[in-house]
Amino acid sequence: MKKIEVLLEALPYMRAFSGCTFVVKYGGAAMEKESLKKEFARDLVLLKYVGINPVIVHGGGPQIERMLTRLDIPTRFVDGLRVTDGPTLEVVEMVLSGSINKEIVQQIHNMGGQAIGLSGKDGKLLVAEKVRGKDIGFVGDVVAVNDKIIRDISGSGYIPVIAPLASGADGSTYNVNADTAAGSIAKAIGAEKLILLTDVPGVLDENLKTISILKRNEAKKLVKSKAVKGGMIPKIECCLDALAGGVKKTHIIDGRTPHAVLLEVFTDSGIGTQIAGE
Ligand code: ADP
Ligand code: MG
Repeated sequence: MKKIEVLLEALPYMRAFSGCTFVVKYGGAAMEKESLKKEFARDLVLLKYVGINPVIVHGGGPQIERMLTRLDIPTRFVDGLRVTDGPTLEVVEMVLSGSINKEIVQQIHNMGGQAIGLSGKDGKLLVAEKVRGKDIGFVGDVVAVNDKIIRDISGSGYIPVIAPLASGADGSTYNVNADTAAGSIAKAIGAEKLILLTDVPGVLDENLKTISILKRNEAKKLVKSKAVKGGMIPKIECCLDALAGGVKKTHIIDGRTPHAVLLEVFTDSGIGTQIAGE
């Protein structure tokens, strides 16, 4: 495609989305591979300059695991579920809120943007309570979002970068799933889009073919089927929850594709899986 066609194809999307907020869950390869990290940060700066307000919520599971190994902190499991005990939580907070969060902020600055990194604990941005059911330690479900902080930061020209930690009403710190944290934030701020980056091409059907568009009722059925397992379950569920809460469109896209976010937002074909509509 000629350069001019690419720019012209983007124009209607720029017009439609100027002034809108997109919440992006960042993680996986896009957050580990040097070239992808830079490209992602540059994409965010571009979005911000065309008037779109990106809000980033990041993960960090593999980085946390590596630090736990380095520090010789053993991991306990209950029925296959990792337990976040006191010493583990200390490492979770150190890695998420310390290393990863500040690295993303730095990447955005390196690309000419402005970012403010914060944890969900700051200003009680995220309030959580301990997950019900099996005791897996300091893992929480978001029960409240103080969206004013995000609006203030975005409105002042900065890109908010949020580590998925939350304050508990009981005074504890909780780690929350980054996908669900992103979904809760998208709902609370009335985001136009929720975009989840992951390391697969999108939601795959039983024949491992990428599904490009999923209606809400189809997604509800699919998530209960055998085709969807593991980490894809909370992703689809949080997309459904976000849609029910007023978010217009949700996307699960491949973060291994360079410039995945721009391709999704500014091209007619988009990429990955879009979950929206009835
Ligand atoms: P992330 O770090 O992006 O949250 P997760 O491992 O938690 O990644 O979730 C994504 C994973 O879900 C995929 O890598 C894949 O192994 C798994 N998965 C299970 N079912 C599906 C499906 N139907 N389509 C795509 N991925 C699926
Ligand atoms: Mg996951």
